[in-house]
Parts: sequence; structure tokens; C-alpha cells
Amino acid sequence: MSSTDNSFHRDEEYIIHTYKRLPIEITHGEGVYLFSKDGRKFLDFFSGLAVNALGYGNKKVISSIEDQLNKYLHISNYYISTPQIQLAEKLVKYSGLSKVFFTNSGTEAIEASLKLVRKVSGPQKRIIAFSNAFHGRTYGALSISGKEKYKKQFEPLVPNIVRLNFNDIDEIKNSIDANTAAVFIEFVQGEAGIYTASAQFVQQLDELRKIFGFILVADEIQTGIGRTGKRFSFNHYNIEPDIIVLAKAIGGGLPLGAMIINKKYSEAFQPGDHGSTFGGNPVACAAGLAVTEIVFENGLVDQVEKLGNYFKSELVSISTNFQSIINEVRGIGFMLGVELKDSCLNIVDEFLKNGILVNCTNDKVIRILPPLIATKDNIDYFLSTFRNILNKYS
Ligand code: PLP
Repeated sequence: MSSTDNSFHRDEEYIIHTYKRLPIEITHGEGVYLFSKDGRKFLDFFSGLAVNALGYGNKKVISSIEDQLNKYLHISNYYISTPQIQLAEKLVKYSGLSKVFFTNSGTEAIEASLKLVRKVSGPQKRIIAFSNAFHGRTYGALSISGKEKYKKQFEPLVPNIVRLNFNDIDEIKNSIDANTAAVFIEFVQGEAGIYTASAQFVQQLDELRKIFGFILVADEIQTGIGRTGKRFSFNHYNIEPDIIVLAKAIGGGLPLGAMIINKKYSEAFQPGDHGSTFGGNPVACAAGLAVTEIVFENGLVDQVEKLGNYFKSELVSISTNFQSIINEVRGIGFMLGVELKDSCLNIVDEFLKNGILVNCTNDKVIRILPPLIATKDNIDYFLSTFRNILNKYS
């Protein structure tokens, strides 16, 4: 038995599997590549599901972490934490909002925003979320998520939540009213299979917000920190959310989430209303500070926009040559989806055999999430491999 086989066996024996494990044991990463115990090298266009924006081994992130490790790993949220302040300043500066509450994960940041919405709006008003949305796995986040298969077995969920169809202008016009507390939206739905909110839909939402004054919460957990070729995905529209929820890339690979709030609601939480022992861990915030500086202050976002446009147009041209296999290409920046006519599991497996990691979401959608540092050469390698795989399948 090889040591990798042994690891799989022990993984089977000791780990509760809520994810379908891939048969790879990673030993280390470098830049855009991951290396496995059995000697394989992978171009990583999975990026830890949009966490590893800067790939692996970024020197600035690591030295920020090391500096903080030598000061303290944890104090308590009862004390002032310099790394928290430094990161919050950056997030406020680049989002245009006002104050930050830190968490350890995306779902926790969603919980914080749900509690804030309920505190501000009271128990009767309805919270609106969209079909196929994904906001996390804890009870509140699950309650505003769209997919029945994730929710069914865990009912009863949080009450007074209404689900409307994403991008359905008539439905929001007919359903949003003075009894609406908040609307939670992913401007690009990731887990659902890379669906982008239309400009008209967002404009209508904003018009309704002006009339009814509900709180607009942008879930930027997957889309934030440059992933879509703008700092945040809401920057693609003429709209400013009241609350932005972040996680994934913000911690540079360490567990970190954030809820950024505008001025109007920035005093809504008072001591005792919410909290987290580990939320805003100083080491994670130090990593986050390095991530924000690299992504927002070195032209990386513009590079993602430019290369993302190139990547998408090449995928569209591939799709026209393989219409019997590919349904549609969607997405923006480095958040792209190729919807196939059938399940994408086989093709994702072919990518794996050819040394490329990508994700298959919602059965048929190849979700492509390159690290933001991916180059045109990396993209071209992906594209030529994709063409070869499709030739084999057509
Ligand atoms: N919201 C979105 C849009 C996500 O993509 C995710 C995770 O995939 C979450 C929320 C939940 O984040 P976490 O897994 O950090 O709790």
C-alpha cells in the first residue's frame, strides 16, 4: 500500500465526509500550482473555491503572518487589535462603506448581517433572498439560500424569509414592499453555476430600495476582493449596498470573514448584541491586510478584468465549435462558468488527469476560478487542454 493509499484509507476512517473527496493528496503549492504526494503537478483553477486569490506561497502574505505570529496569535475582542484596525481601514477605504465587524467565515458574516437586519427592522418584516442563492450552511444562512436539496432535511428554518426568482424584474416589482426588511443578493451567483444579475434587474432593485428603504446586503464572499475584475462585484453596477459580506479570499487562506456596514447602520450593533471569540483573528487580519494591499494597490484587479475578458471570449469561441457539448459560457473576470449539456464530472476528471484543477458545480457547470495572479500563458494552457478534452468527447 502506498502512503497516499494509506492516507485515503485513514481519511475514510476518521473524517466525516460532507464533501466528495478527490483522490489527491497535496503536499505543497507554489504560485498557481499544487503538487501531490504521488509526484503530480496541477495548474490550480479551483483556488480553494475562490480562497487562494494569490495562489500559494505569496511572500508578502507569509511575512505578514510571520510578523504577527511573533507578536501574538490571539488576544480577545475585549482589546484593541492593531491588525483588525489596519484591515478594517482598507476595507472601508475600498468599499466606500463605514465600519467592519469581523468573523471567521462567510456563513458567520451572513449570520451577523441577518441579526443586524432583524434588530433594525423588527420580527415582522420579511427578508428577501433569491432562487439558487448560496449564502452558507448555518441556520440563518441556510434559510436564505435557494437550493432545496441543502435545506429540506434541516427544517424548520428561520421564519419570515421569502424567496424570489433571481433576475425576475416583474417578481421583485410585485413582491417588494414596505414590509421588506432586506434583500440579500449575490451579484454573481457562484455555487448556482455562475449566473450574473442583469443591469436592469439591479436597477429595478435600486429603484425599489429608494421607495421602500429596505437594507441591501451584498454577499461578496465569493465575488469580492477582485475576483470579478472589479474590487467588488457591486462595482459593475451603479449601486452601493448597505452591507457587504466578505470571506474566502480576504484571509489569504486563513479563516476570516467580514461584514462591512454603511454609515446609516454602523451603530446598529451595540456591545452584547453579537460577538465571536475568534472573529477577526489578528494573524488572519495581518494576512488580509497583505491581500488587500496586493490585490487593490498593485493593478491586479485591472489585470483580472483584462485577462478575464480574454478568457471568456476564448471560451465562447470554443463553445461555438462544440455546440453539441457546451450549452453556454457565463461569468465575469476570473469567475467563469461553462455549462455543459450533461454532467461535467467526466470533463472535470479529464482536466484532473491532464494536470488542471477545476470545480463542477450544479451538476453541469464547470466553475473556473483561477487565482488572480494567473497569467495569459496559464489561461492558454487551460484553453488548449480544454480543446483537447472536447475533441476527445465530440
Ligand atoms: N456565500 C457565498 C456566495 C459563498 O460562495 C459561500 C461559500 O462558498 C458562502 C456564502 C459561505 O461561506 P463559508 O463557507 O465561508 O461559510
